[in-house]
Amino acid sequence: MVVENSQKSNEEDLSQAINEMRAVTHKFAEDIIRPAAMKLDTMSPEDVIAKESPLFDVFRAWYGSKNHAGFADVDVNDGGKISNAVLFELGWGSSDLAVSLGVASMPFQMVDMMTRMTGDTALKGEIVDPFLEDTEGKIIGCWAITEPMHGSDMLAVGTQEYANPNTAGGCRASKDGDDWILNGQKSAWVSNGTIASHALLFCGIDSSKGAAGGGVAVVPLDLPGVHKGPPLDKMGQRALNQGEIFFDDVRIPARYMLVDPSLYTFALEMVLGTANTGMGTIFAGVARACYDEAMNYAKERSQGGRPIAQHQLVQGLLFKMFMRAEGARALSEYTIDVHAGLGIPSLPHAIASKVTSTAAAYEVASDAVQVHGGIGLAKGVLIEKLFRDARASLIEDGVNELLMLVGAGHLLTANN
Ligand SMILES: Cc1cc2nc3c(=O)[nH]c(=O)nc-3n(C[C@H](O)[C@H](O)[C@H](O)COP(=O)(O)OP(=O)(O)OC[C@H]3O[C@@H](n4cnc5c(N)ncnc54)[C@H](O)[C@@H]3O)c2cc1C
Repeated sequence: MVVENSQKSNEEDLSQAINEMRAVTHKFAEDIIRPAAMKLDTMSPEDVIAKESPLFDVFRAWYGSKNHAGFADVDVNDGGKISNAVLFELGWGSSDLAVSLGVASMPFQMVDMMTRMTGDTALKGEIVDPFLEDTEGKIIGCWAITEPMHGSDMLAVGTQEYANPNTAGGCRASKDGDDWILNGQKSAWVSNGTIASHALLFCGIDSSKGAAGGGVAVVPLDLPGVHKGPPLDKMGQRALNQGEIFFDDVRIPARYMLVDPSLYTFALEMVLGTANTGMGTIFAGVARACYDEAMNYAKERSQGGRPIAQHQLVQGLLFKMFMRAEGARALSEYTIDVHAGLGIPSLPHAIASKVTSTAAAYEVASDAVQVHGGIGLAKGVLIEKLFRDARASLIEDGVNELLMLVGAGHLLTANN
């Protein structure tokens, strides 16, 4: 049948395109991402963002080959599968840099999406096009939502607490004529916070509605009144720069306020759904990297007169790791298919993928340290870093327990 044949050839073309992109990105992850992340892991947070830091070599390489602009020429027929393969391989390379490169495009993706709907080509030209044309990695985005006094509150969409006036954020936007004035602070957890040129800012507008009364703005961070805190020093994902952003009477034009409270919850669900989907994929890549490390080591290390891979207890552990890693990867790929079918991210699937992959990455990393024995605890050994990186992921982009409450709330509402 002609129709069946042409469908088959489209599917073959797509899987060939995915495989090619996967291979190119895997090489990038192996040659550029992983060596840079290992170096950055040993550096102080200040040195990580110094001008000559390997961090910016990574950004230059990524932007130089135009990978950062992937969302702009999205092929609807691929349903997000190519980007998913790319993120998996970046995560395999190193999660901290994968997150940093992924978050870098967030404000521009959001403006691109909004301006496609509104037809505001001037705003696209002002904000998105310079980012797409950047080949030096100078235009870097961040997602600024967490505050010192409001972490989970800001992500607890759909829960009872979300609309409680006590959960309203302290970083606020108020109207002044045609402009908005921003005041307040975002926490030290903002990824790329210190190095970002633009923020996708989630801020409070109507505090009577609690965290639900927010707005979303794109904010160039060179505006008067913007200040940054020092880079955060933390246990894992040390190549991922994080830091506070302060807003002191920062004036933005009305066109930078992309979403007002009437659409805020929808926008938060879309952004959280997209971010959690990315996390699910990146940490499926981390789980795979941990399994690979354990398998390689088990073949090399001999005890009892033969490679430890030949001992049955080690084989059992390796297969458990393989199942956890492949299960996480399968769910992350299925999640992409669900989103493609709906045309928007399904938040419960995105959360399920994020929670499954990060838990898998942490468990597989821990088992992989066990397979390594004492050397798995030594600085400079990859699995020691992967274990610390995986631990951070259980909190990143929403504490897993809180995300599961959000997911349950959505399922219960959908079933009513
Ligand atoms: C590596 C990393 C990267 C990050 N990147 C970003 C970023 O790019 N942008 C950004 O804005 N933020 C970012 N964050 C912040 C992250 O989203 C928050 O840390 C997270 O939402 C939790 O907030 P919190 O740390 O204030 O913990 P809290 O909200 O104070 O939670 C503490 C504990 O209380 C529990 N808890 C809280 N509320 C409830 C509730 N209603 N019901 C039951 N239990 C509850 C939580 O599960 C948790 O165990 C990042 C964090 C990490 C670790």
